[in-house]
Amino acid sequence: MSEHILSLSYGKDSLACLGAIEQLGWPLDRIVHAEVWATDTIQADLPPMVEFKAKTDEIIKARWGIKVEHIRSKLTAESIFYHKRLRGNRTGQIAGWPMINGCEFQKPLKVRPIQLATKGGITYLGIAFDEPRRFHTLNALKKSPLVEAGWTEDMCREWCEKNDLLSPIYTTATRGGCWFCHNQSVKQLRLLRRDYPEYWTLMLKWDRDSPVAFHQDGHTVHDFEHRFQLEDDGLISPDNKGFRWSMLDSELNFRLL
Ligand code: SF4
Repeated sequence: MSEHILSLSYGKDSLACLGAIEQLGWPLDRIVHAEVWATDTIQADLPPMVEFKAKTDEIIKARWGIKVEHIRSKLTAESIFYHKRLRGNRTGQIAGWPMINGCEFQKPLKVRPIQLATKGGITYLGIAFDEPRRFHTLNALKKSPLVEAGWTEDMCREWCEKNDLLSPIYTTATRGGCWFCHNQSVKQLRLLRRDYPEYWTLMLKWDRDSPVAFHQDGHTVHDFEHRFQLEDDGLISPDNKGFRWSMLDSELNFRLL
């Protein structure tokens, strides 16, 4: 008999699968989560998310009797970042920021560990009833209890709220995903620098060592540092509206704000 495994991200849809599985009477043997690590000692999640996961694991153990398995790759974001390329036109250079072809952290740190942990089993994925654009990933081995039970994203959120399982990413400024993500908003970067200066310092170090820019438009973490410092000094507005990178080069422009 195949095992039935929930691939848990701790997002609302993923957690609501627990409710839908209960409602459908589907079997559930294991729950797995791929934990991404920034370095050997620092997780990729921000501390409020780390706390939420620990609290959630206790609730799941108490109510469903299953210990969530936190699996991880031997690699970290830092080890991938500093891995020297053996092929291509950047041979000998370290990888640096993963801006080319999406995110180079995703597969080795998230996708592959989950594939290994769920191999041979039937995996439950948190795809909601109102997300038809994601239905193509479902098949005989990858099922969505939410689609089967007709649960929409709003229903998932409601279920999580009722069961004290709503992640802080929906109710506070906490970011979901990696704190060093190149896809995060300027607002999130500003908050990271303000609230987690030690993480920001690490990003500045990686930025110094990276052979490629943090953003595809060529802007670096140091450019953001410059921008945020000017905001702190009251020289430009922290309101993103009307901001132009050229303001960083022209003292005159600051006075216009
Ligand atoms: S959150 Fe960002 S950095 Fe982390 S795996 Fe996803 S895209 Fe990559």
